[in-house]
Amino acid sequence: MAVRRSAPVAEAELLAEYPFLPGAESLLAGLTPSLRDLLTDPTYERARLLGRARVRAAADDPTGGTVVEELARAVPAERFLSFYYARLLLSAAPSPAALRRWAVAEAKQSYGRWRTEPLPTLIDISDRLHYPLTEAEGASVALTVPDYLRLATAIREADFRLARQDVADGKVSIARDRAARLLQEAVRLALTAPVPLTDDVVGLLREREAEFLADLAQRVPLPTRPAPGGPASYRPELFPPCIRKMVRMLQAGENLSHAGRFALAAFLHRTGATFETIVDAYRGAPDFDESITRYQVEHITQRGGGEGYTPPECDTLRTHGLCFRDGDPTAPNALDRSRDDRCFEPTLRHPLTYYRRRGGKVRAVPEESVSAAHAPSRPGPPP
Ligand code: SF4
Repeated sequence: MAVRRSAPVAEAELLAEYPFLPGAESLLAGLTPSLRDLLTDPTYERARLLGRARVRAAADDPTGGTVVEELARAVPAERFLSFYYARLLLSAAPSPAALRRWAVAEAKQSYGRWRTEPLPTLIDISDRLHYPLTEAEGASVALTVPDYLRLATAIREADFRLARQDVADGKVSIARDRAARLLQEAVRLALTAPVPLTDDVVGLLREREAEFLADLAQRVPLPTRPAPGGPASYRPELFPPCIRKMVRMLQAGENLSHAGRFALAAFLHRTGATFETIVDAYRGAPDFDESITRYQVEHITQRGGGEGYTPPECDTLRTHGLCFRDGDPTAPNALDRSRDDRCFEPTLRHPLTYYRRRGGKVRAVPEESVSAAHAPSRPGPPP
């Protein structure tokens, strides 16, 4: 089916609302600022101001619920430049955590609008994002299976699993609200990638925005690295490859799946991490929310009078693509890139067993309970 263009929505308005869409730079019309102009020229001070406001709003509220009201009064070119400046600023920030959080917030704001946009507009946007939706039976739209998998993989809700979808002729039929959620993921993925910048530009941005970037680092702190000197039984240097990978992902501000977040909290608790250490481990998550994380970590760790949920077995982690016994090629150090022979011992069936065999002590719970793996259905793992 041919994609219908969004006739009811003016092109400039659409691009100003969604400045990540290809072609949004056309909003600049006669303006052709160089990168240096945008960073330094007083003409663009308001665009820079709005760009900082966008970043700050996302840092404080990754749900996308905080709207920068001045944006509604800005002309389309200024809105586009503010978006672009925010991206530049975050691409030059020393840590990727704030960029990832901003990507989540911008994507969620779009999702909020897409839920009420006319269907032709949603289809038009999906086409521009290169994940084309087509109209399907009833109130549904359809997406090809490969596109669906690309977008749904990182979504933690079980309802998004392919096995639960209506698939026919290589396409997945989905309700429009779910389609909007998938497009949110497309935007998040696109905005999570930093803009490639030369060292000169990075240096200039860091110099001119030093105060702002320092404030941002306070608002989006990185997780505290696990300290080997913590409680007696808590020894991160003995963690198995799967848990080390999950910790690294969060430290790098990457998205960790539902199953991974649950497994990590349950494992850290059993190995003696304090409540604060566990909460800290999630600070790098792109959608980190302190109060929700505290609530959910409490739920996972306080079950059974403080015993906590049992972390999943190796087989379960493997099913979720979270076993890294063959090594993680993306890891920065050689140890994590290498295969771990301990994980190939036939009797090794649980990450806690790995930890114990290396000399770590696990919270005192009945031995047999370590073999079960029951994730809570509600509430979920830390965000
Ligand atoms: S074998 Fe088990 S302990 Fe080792 S990395 Fe895989 S899931 Fe973790």
